Amino acid sequence: MGRRKGPSSFEVTASDLKDYLYCPRTIYWRYVLRIAEPRTGLMIRGKRLQDKAITRALELASLKGYRAIRRLPLRSRSLGMRGVLDALLVGEDLKPLEVKLGLRREAYKVQLTAYAMMVEEKFGEDVKEGFIFYPSGLERVLFTERLRRRVMDVSREVRRIVLSESLPDPTVRSRRCGSCEYYPFCRRI
Ligand code: SF4
Repeated sequence: MGRRKGPSSFEVTASDLKDYLYCPRTIYWRYVLRIAEPRTGLMIRGKRLQDKAITRALELASLKGYRAIRRLPLRSRSLGMRGVLDALLVGEDLKPLEVKLGLRREAYKVQLTAYAMMVEEKFGEDVKEGFIFYPSGLERVLFTERLRRRVMDVSREVRRIVLSESLPDPTVRSRRCGSCEYYPFCRRI
């Protein structure tokens, strides 16, 4: 759960970006009302399978000579952002990798791009592409200007919700509520 040190020092996590894109209300429950998201079976299983998935992703990407730095903590003062990247693939260049056990989602690309931007700041190198490992296969993600702008726009919205303490409208995709861990607190009211 994110720490809240004060209005000017609030740090958005890369995970917050994908959660906002799932439903902006999740940010309100987590940071304004400080309700910790319960750990689901999928999350626990995800941690256990992560190491195997990273090894498999290296094979699928055919990256000769690359090694993986696993669970890399990242922080950027200029972006006001932090997070823990599943793996950074290090070889001729740097390629961030995230492991996801569900369906493909655009929001995961935004999250991965946030990690890429923090990697660039930490190592002082351009990061042009990365990967998301899904059970259905490996997706290559190019860190386009559009994705980078999305990172900035969404992180600004996350910060606005937290600092203004305003409850966003429920997601228009009401089917998502069925699998939302915050439903008992929210109920779309
Ligand atoms: S229950 Fe629905 S509206 Fe409420 S936070 Fe979850 S996804 Fe959003």
